[in-house]
Amino acid sequence: MTGEHRIVVLGAGYAGLSAAKRAAKVRGARVTVIDSRAEFVERVRLHQAVAGQSVARWDLRERLAAKGIDFVRGRAVHIDTDTRRVELEDGQSLAYDSLVYALGSVWDASAVPGVADHAHSVATPEDVARVPALTGRIAVVGGGSTGIEVAAELAETRPDLAITMITSEEPGAWLSAKARAHAARTLSRLGVEVRSGVKVVEVDRGGVTLTDGDRLAADTVLWTTGFAVPDLAARCGLAVDDRGRILVDATLRSRSHPEISAAGDAAVVSGPGDRHLRMACATALPTGKHAATAIAATLHGKAAPPLSFRYYIQCISLGRRDGIIQFVAPDDTPTGTVLTGRPAAWFKEGIVRGAARTARP
Ligand SMILES: Cc1cc2nc3c(=O)[nH]c(=O)nc-3n(C[C@H](O)[C@H](O)[C@H](O)COP(=O)(O)OP(=O)(O)OC[C@H]3O[C@@H](n4cnc5c(N)ncnc54)[C@H](O)[C@@H]3O)c2cc1C
Repeated sequence: MTGEHRIVVLGAGYAGLSAAKRAAKVRGARVTVIDSRAEFVERVRLHQAVAGQSVARWDLRERLAAKGIDFVRGRAVHIDTDTRRVELEDGQSLAYDSLVYALGSVWDASAVPGVADHAHSVATPEDVARVPALTGRIAVVGGGSTGIEVAAELAETRPDLAITMITSEEPGAWLSAKARAHAARTLSRLGVEVRSGVKVVEVDRGGVTLTDGDRLAADTVLWTTGFAVPDLAARCGLAVDDRGRILVDATLRSRSHPEISAAGDAAVVSGPGDRHLRMACATALPTGKHAATAIAATLHGKAAPPLSFRYYIQCISLGRRDGIIQFVAPDDTPTGTVLTGRPAAWFKEGIVRGAARTARP
């Protein structure tokens, strides 16, 4: 394909697909997406998957081909930034002129001793597939959005389970008072016991040990306390922060390697109020699209535009019939306006469907 600008997109999650769709419209470019999975699975529905609900998935190769985008299935193990090639586990190597790095995030299995061996995660479809058949006592560790969604979904779908949430702060501690109160009320209504103000210091085969010395017996421990990123960027010499996320400028180009752009969970992007954008589908979609827009501008001899982004809402589902829509200021600070109950559940369902439609080529 001599003469064509080769744009390789690493990762076919929300950020990567959004980048690839935009890149496919760039005159003079040939776009290839690489992912270790053959199918796109809506990651924001994995709490539903672990509760036994079926979550739609679709074939990446087929969808991307319909938009003239090539797909290579494989796991990237190295980026040679000198020769500009991505190397895959199976020995393939793909040359790029521009690379969009969108490898997302995984669970943090090194959080405390025993997590990797005895806890389970819902961070990826593969993690969910490894969760054993749930019975008896379930400990959900973490009171962030993922922990709340997992605990509520399981409690609603599987009332036979005894679910305890363990969280260092109250569930949804960063939300407005109204939203926090609704989260607490709903978890209680669904029968979730909340142990707040404690952390887990160790996980073992039979449960968890807490900072206050207590032991909590659990048949399954679901670990939801924040995500880590793949170490590929750091290993390949790109400038990264202390969590391994790629440092980018306002146009989303890597600060150390401008021919590489980064988007989604794998990038540190400055947002309103100089706060870093949170790891979210809500930030992955626009940053992915913007990375490709900036590449297109440069390719056509124009200045790459800076990302313009503001927040509007945060959405948390509380099972299929309840939820929280927290309205926020442009920098993500919660306001006093909150939608709850069934309308919030519908609203969130609409947002999740919209995100999948936006990502789908
Ligand atoms: C249960 C759950 C609920 C969530 N709910 C919400 C929500 O309500 N709202 C919200 O905004 N966010 C939510 N999130 C967070 C959201 O899913 C992520 O922030 C988002 O998926 C990030 O998108 P991404 O494209 O950066 O990464 P990902 O979606 O993680 O995609 C990364 C892709 O890279 C591929 N990949 C990784 N490593 C390699 C490799 N070495 N080689 C090849 N391919 C590779 C993966 O297979 C994957 O397809 C939720 C997350 C979870 C787990």
